[in-house]
Amino acid sequence: MLPVIALVGRPNVGKSTLFNRLTRSRDALVADFPGLTRDRQYGEGRVGPRPYIVVDTGGFEPVKSQGIVKAMASQAELAIEEADVVIFVVDARTGLTPHDERIANHLRRSHRPVVLAVNKAEGLDSVHAAEFYELAMGEPNMISAAHGHGVHNMIELALSHC
Ligand code: GDP
Ligand code: MG
Repeated sequence: MLPVIALVGRPNVGKSTLFNRLTRSRDALVADFPGLTRDRQYGEGRVGPRPYIVVDTGGFEPVKSQGIVKAMASQAELAIEEADVVIFVVDARTGLTPHDERIANHLRRSHRPVVLAVNKAEGLDSVHAAEFYELAMGEPNMISAAHGHGVHNMIELALSHC
């Protein structure tokens, strides 16, 4: 069984961009607006000789189709349950939001190892990562899913938890 890495975070932080970079596939829909990717998307990635499964999730939004505004999207819940490690993606450009804090609390309750990815960090000084320490999710890893910066090291860190 390959290690399973779930990409979790609020809409528009760059999960699908990261998924595409990791899997070099076009399976995930990358949108310029939030919430398009509704279902989990699975792909296979590889660091060196080591393969892993990566799961993209639909942005952790309320599931309106179920009639109840649930606190968390069931797709993301399921993805977390089946993951060996979670990459929690936040956005260096928007900074920390209350939605990020709710997701962090949820992840704590899941008891999964979490690696914190501060995305869209290309060209930014590490001072932009400082506020994300407030999430108490460990060291923020500055990455750029779009440009690839920091992605390899972050995946190696994630796999070290598997
Ligand atoms: P998702 O909703 O979390 O899956 O986010 P997407 O992958 O669809 O990306 C949302 C937006 O952020 C798109 O416009 C992406 O091009 C942009 N984006 C993703 N990664 C980066 C990055 O590393 N840097 C910058 N500047 N923009 C990014
Ligand atoms: Mg997406």
